[in-house]
Amino acid sequence: MISVTDLTSYLFCPRKLYLERVLGLVEPHKEAIVKGSVIHKAMEYLTNSEEAIVKSINSPLTKLELFELYKLKSSELFGEIVQLNRARIREFFDTEEFFIQNLSLIVSDSAERAARLCSFMAQNKLLGSELWAALMPKMVSELKLRSETLGLSGVVDRADFYETCIVPLEIKTGKAPGRGTWHGHEIQLAAYALLLKEHYGLEVKEGNVRYTAIDESRIVRFNHFHFHEVKALTADVQKLFASRKVPMFCKKTCFYCGNPNNKAELLMEKMKILGSESI
Ligand code: SF4
Repeated sequence: MISVTDLTSYLFCPRKLYLERVLGLVEPHKEAIVKGSVIHKAMEYLTNSEEAIVKSINSPLTKLELFELYKLKSSELFGEIVQLNRARIREFFDTEEFFIQNLSLIVSDSAERAARLCSFMAQNKLLGSELWAALMPKMVSELKLRSETLGLSGVVDRADFYETCIVPLEIKTGKAPGRGTWHGHEIQLAAYALLLKEHYGLEVKEGNVRYTAIDESRIVRFNHFHFHEVKALTADVQKLFASRKVPMFCKKTCFYCGNPNNKAELLMEKMKILGSESI
């Protein structure tokens, strides 16, 4: 089974993917990976805590009051997550600074949720458990998906369920493009769209990439070419994994190719064991 992130890793570099997934080499933790995983965890906790927040509302609230309610809960949760991950965070950041610098993302997420809830409440005049039961979309974080037919599996950061459709969302903490989305992110979302469509039988016409560095969500509208590329890439990755040949390196200086401490001996040893051809 190929994972959706294998497809994007393949687009970035087939050699790196081969070294990691076939030969089992592991790149040491990087600053961006630690930051990304803590932010993802925080967003997951926030989505999962929304039910308790909404059910606790037993009188009509203004948009500002809703925002304060979300912000308070979100900031507390983010503090707990930073605390839980402090050992990893300390490898690269000052924990206090990390908390302060990234709190704005959490606050902005709270503003978005409060605005959505406020307009839903204005239209539906519901409170507490009834409000939660009726609230649309229902957001599910870290949703695991798998399809034997597609030969793909993956975990989408968030899926927003409406009555007749689903909108997947990916959270990206790296650099955002000047406009639109990076191609790899479009392909990742399109792969989740295929998986969601097959599993739930609902329309998946568009998805969102949330670039936390610029605090902006950008829409991807899926078309036939996206889905065709996902299937073609899946076949290419399957072929790569079955191959005995390590793909050619390029002129960049990534950990495996440009770094003098790139564990070259270990790589040669593994290739010998697996009978892979070196280039
Ligand atoms: S330097 Fe190596 S790992 Fe990096 S992109 Fe080039 S081939 Fe891939």
